[in-house]
Amino acid sequence: MKDTKQKCMDCLSLDKKVFVCSSDAMAVINPEGYYLDQNRVHAELFGHPDEALNGLTPAIYFGDSSFLKIKKNLSEKGIYRSELSGKTASRAEKQIDLSISSIKDDQGKTLCYLMTHRDITECKTTEEHIDPLTHHDLLTGLPNRRLLTDRFSQAIKLAGRKGEKLALLYIDLDHFNRLRDELGHTSGDELLVTIAGRLSGCVRDCDTVIHLPLDIFVILLTETSEIEHAATISQKMLHLIAKPILIETGPVVLSASIGISLFPDDGTDSTTLLDHALVAMSRVKNQGRNGYQFYSEELGPKTLERIELKMAIQRAIEAEEFQVYYQPQIDMESGKIACVEALLRWSHPEKGLLPPSSFIPMAEETRLVVEIDTWVLRAACRQLKIWQDAGFPDLRIAINLSAFQFQQQNLCTLVDEILRETGIAPDALELELTESITMHDIDKGIETMKHLHHLGVRIAIDDFGVGYSSLGYLRQFPIHTLKIDQSFVKGICHNPDDAAITAAIIAMANNLNLEVIAEGVETKDQVIFLREHLCSNMQGFYFSRPLTADRFSHFLATPPQFKLPSSPMNN
Ligand code: C2E
Ligand code: MG
Ligand code: MG
Repeated sequence: MKDTKQKCMDCLSLDKKVFVCSSDAMAVINPEGYYLDQNRVHAELFGHPDEALNGLTPAIYFGDSSFLKIKKNLSEKGIYRSELSGKTASRAEKQIDLSISSIKDDQGKTLCYLMTHRDITECKTTEEHIDPLTHHDLLTGLPNRRLLTDRFSQAIKLAGRKGEKLALLYIDLDHFNRLRDELGHTSGDELLVTIAGRLSGCVRDCDTVIHLPLDIFVILLTETSEIEHAATISQKMLHLIAKPILIETGPVVLSASIGISLFPDDGTDSTTLLDHALVAMSRVKNQGRNGYQFYSEELGPKTLERIELKMAIQRAIEAEEFQVYYQPQIDMESGKIACVEALLRWSHPEKGLLPPSSFIPMAEETRLVVEIDTWVLRAACRQLKIWQDAGFPDLRIAINLSAFQFQQQNLCTLVDEILRETGIAPDALELELTESITMHDIDKGIETMKHLHHLGVRIAIDDFGVGYSSLGYLRQFPIHTLKIDQSFVKGICHNPDDAAITAAIIAMANNLNLEVIAEGVETKDQVIFLREHLCSNMQGFYFSRPLTADRFSHFLATPPQFKLPSSPMNN
């Protein structure tokens, strides 16, 4: 320990005196995140003497989830910079401007990290006092999230004392994101300002209209003796929202979904009331939008869980918690890695590594999947270029597309842009579509596939055999590859139906001059069966599990020798 610490201190590019005398609080942590040293200002700021820091990490001040984020950033980028709130040894809350940089040895290996902290607690408090705008949304001039809690607690206290009811309306404009994408942000803002004006105009002085980010408005109705009052107001609001708004391109008609929760019936604190109004709102969305609904117990925790997942996905995108894993596809003729499939994982700060099945359905429902898929597309193509440049120029990448992404107007432009940006050849990219995606709107699907084909990109039909592809359409699709669904591959050695279907798909693909991949290959017997039936490519745990980019680099450089049973093709 002493040695590492000494080495790190020796390597500090700044003079040790600067570390000791700096007016900033500084500390040094090892690559695992444990404290090695701190200066006097750090000890004063956080309140732990040197010896008490032994065995501690910054999680002690910033909490586990921030610490995980810090570690992830450091391992990926080598630096970190953010404003964080932290708790000192005496549990005092501090706002800290934290920056962390790595200290490397001569060979470029990270020895430790230097953390520099600036205490900005006072600046933050002053900022809050002198800037009234921080309590109001700049666009609409309405109170924002910061005022929400204040107003709520006051109103709840008052209503509790007087024995009155409160109603909380959670208003979410329908399809607003899509509309804003189509009309542009300026028109989108114009719509929001108009709606804000209409909502404010329809409540009394004692009520509060709050604007949350994007298209969400929350209204707190005080002195509500009857729940009918909340229903009447909601009806009135829906009516006002639906009045056409004239913008530069012409009239626009909006609608909204409103969820209502009541104090004290549905909760006695602002967080519970907001959660419950949100649950009710999402029920309106699920039932076709443009309406209102009161919260009731049977809407239940499941809905809340789903909403929380949606919010967590949103946060994860911002916090860059998604990660791409890579699984090789083996060309059975050469025994070499021909292609690699990008498979998404969510490195969740509390739950660990999550597979796509636990969040893609929700991401699809909320259209966040487009953002996620775009990120995967860019990250995976960038990674492929690194491998191609590192001596594997023929390697290809296969990337899964969601239905939403496939239906995006700008898909081809986006793919083209990413190809240019990353410098990979179009035919090094294979987009995997499932049958249901392609069969959703066949004519449009064929058109999109043709555009992609025109770009030179390859198309694979994933999970082939479990969807509803008509073989007639298959001939019209400009596709290169069929991926046999793993449920068939699983049964090939003991279920005659699976064996027959798999053999038929391979034969059909070969006759149509398509490449065919069997996925989910786990055993040698499966490999033998597939080889005997002339399956040209395979993917599965038998060859490798999905790996991180680093581990896949290693796999590429030193691929294991697969003992491939000889194929009748060679006979
Ligand atoms: P998929 O594209 O059919 O991917 C194959 C799945 O089978 C992967 O699961 C992979 O880890 C797993 N697998 C591979 N070899 C074996 C094996 O030998 N045995 C077994 N039992 N499983 C094997 P994963 O990574 O959980 O992905 C599940 C699905 O999530 C994928 O199915 C794909 O439809 C979707 N997905 C993955 N990444 C993305 C993404 O970036 N965007 C979108 N929209 N969907 C994705
Ligand atoms: Mg796939
Ligand atoms: Mg599949």
